[in-house]
Amino acid sequence: MARTRPAARAILALLLLLGQLPCAPRRSLPPAGALVALDGDTLQLPDGQRVRLPGVDTPESGRPWSRAATAFSRRFVADGVAGWELVPADPRRDRYGRLLADVRVDGRSLSAALVEQGLAWVYGDQQAGLLGRQGAAIDARRGLYAGLDRSAPGPFVASARRFHHLDCPLRPDVSQQFEARATRLLAQGLSPCRTCLAWPPASDSWPPF
Ligand SMILES: [Zn+2]
Repeated sequence: MARTRPAARAILALLLLLGQLPCAPRRSLPPAGALVALDGDTLQLPDGQRVRLPGVDTPESGRPWSRAATAFSRRFVADGVAGWELVPADPRRDRYGRLLADVRVDGRSLSAALVEQGLAWVYGDQQAGLLGRQGAAIDARRGLYAGLDRSAPGPFVASARRFHHLDCPLRPDVSQQFEARATRLLAQGLSPCRTCLAWPPASDSWPPF
């Protein structure tokens, strides 16, 4: 029996090695600051490539909640311990050359975390899981939705993916318009137009620094 033990150990070691293989594509955490959040929904990889989180929008620079969203994403990547990865691992690029991928840090989705905090709008109706998180953020009046009851925005006109003020120059053709309250449009996966500031959130007071 004693002669079989080394073989058994070798098999065990092999099994352990094989068990590790699914984790092999995950990149080890780069040095601090190597994965940088340029703003809430755009990050820079250590090799300089830019990554855009698909399916979510954070407020543009200079607009309410943009600083909070950027600070959140920076802290999210900085707090990583086990590592980060892109999902999908081989993403396509958008028209600006940015990689379209979610960033997972220690297995947690940055997109989902932003939406949960009310710091990003869901963009597109194929994001069922994110829409559920967004609904919870709206119900709790977190982040962008803190002033929902005071601002009472709308009515808006909606295109395929965005909603606009009635007088926005980018509003779609009349035949494609319908008017609705923001909460209904958000629940359908429509994101506010960035040109006409269709969503007027209250000024941000989060995070407290
Ligand atoms: Zn607009």
